Amino acid sequence: MTAGKHEAEEGASLDWRDEFQDAALEALYRRTMQLQDAQQLRHALHLVAGVFLLFGVADYLLLGTSIHLLALLLIRLLVALSCLALARLIGRHSAHAHRPISLNLVYFIALTGLLTSILLHPGSIGLHISSVVVACLAIYLLVPNRLPWILAWSGYLASGFIVIAALWKPLSPGMLASTALILAFANLMGWLTYARLNRLQRKQFALLVAEREVNRKLQKEIEERQLLEARLRHMASTDPLTGLANRRHFFDLAEREFSRAQRDGMPLTICMVDIDLFKTLNDHHGHAVGDLVLTTVASCCASVLRETDIIGRYGGEEFVIALPQADLETATFIAERLRRKVTSLHLPMFEEGQHLSVTVGISQIRLDEGKLEQALQRADNALYVGKARGRNCVVVAGDTPSTIAAGA
Ligand code: GH3
Ligand code: MG
Ligand code: MG
Repeated sequence: MTAGKHEAEEGASLDWRDEFQDAALEALYRRTMQLQDAQQLRHALHLVAGVFLLFGVADYLLLGTSIHLLALLLIRLLVALSCLALARLIGRHSAHAHRPISLNLVYFIALTGLLTSILLHPGSIGLHISSVVVACLAIYLLVPNRLPWILAWSGYLASGFIVIAALWKPLSPGMLASTALILAFANLMGWLTYARLNRLQRKQFALLVAEREVNRKLQKEIEERQLLEARLRHMASTDPLTGLANRRHFFDLAEREFSRAQRDGMPLTICMVDIDLFKTLNDHHGHAVGDLVLTTVASCCASVLRETDIIGRYGGEEFVIALPQADLETATFIAERLRRKVTSLHLPMFEEGQHLSVTVGISQIRLDEGKLEQALQRADNALYVGKARGRNCVVVAGDTPSTIAAGA
């Protein structure tokens, strides 16, 4: 957070115009502020139009009906209409709040209108100084624009006023100096206030941008960690060779099924599957071929199961299967299908007439048993019986030889 703040402070340094030195940040700031600036400018333009028209009443009271009044009213109308036209344009397309052509044209009309109205107006110099000071402050405060334009238009207003005042009624050197000082002071106040507000607003914006960047990085980090966590979890629960659940994960899943089956009084059967004479295969064809056969048998086992069945790699070339809601008859049917599928596999390392085979031992959990291991042990014993009987067969735990499903 501190580093982000530091970066924000560095990127947020402003130039003499109180704009960001970083051009991209400045462009982003202006884009972000466009709507707000447009709204502020529209309010300012409506206000200026209203004030200009309102002063028409004062003109009438001062001048009565005369050709001067008519000229003044026309000027006021022109200024008010140009302000309203620009406000309407900005209302339709907020981008106009930042476009120089239309803005500077209206500045020119409004300020020239003000100067001309002073020229036509017979009031006291003091009255006009105050109106020019107010106009000057309004340029700095009400118009959300860029400092070079603001300075240019305030300069135009101040110098124009001094020229007009000199034309209208030559001022004494003292009066001229006082007028220049008052206008200079008004400009200084306007500039300082403008700079202060601008700096504050841009600093806040830079902090917001930096905070968003930190949040974005944090979010990315969280996502990466979640991904890593998921990968680690997968690695911790999966056998890397076959992609099946490893022994521990199989037990986690199968024990859940065991508890459910015990609670609901539903059957749950366990099948232990062991590849026959796998050591010989390894010895003849090498470990890499053995690995390939292991993965083939693993996918063969998975292919005969339902989604709800659980399969895991129990050890070397042994697999274990939990079949929820399957009784011994269904489990024997599934195991037999698996055994036949393995014998029908066409593996290039086997010569004509030879084939791979598996032996399967099956047992069903009993309602009086408190642990899954007991059923596993019975299935393992059945598997051992199957091996002793010549392999490539399915043996149900505790069965007589006549119930052996198949033989080699
Ligand atoms: P049986 O029919 O009685 O089961 O005979 P078998 O040869 O299959 O049984 P045994 O337990 O003697 O041999 C199992 C072999 O499995 C021994 C070991 O080299 C091999 N094995 C265990 N894990 C892996 C493995 O990850 N990859 C390979 N290629 N072989 C493995
Ligand atoms: Mg074996
Ligand atoms: Mg074995």
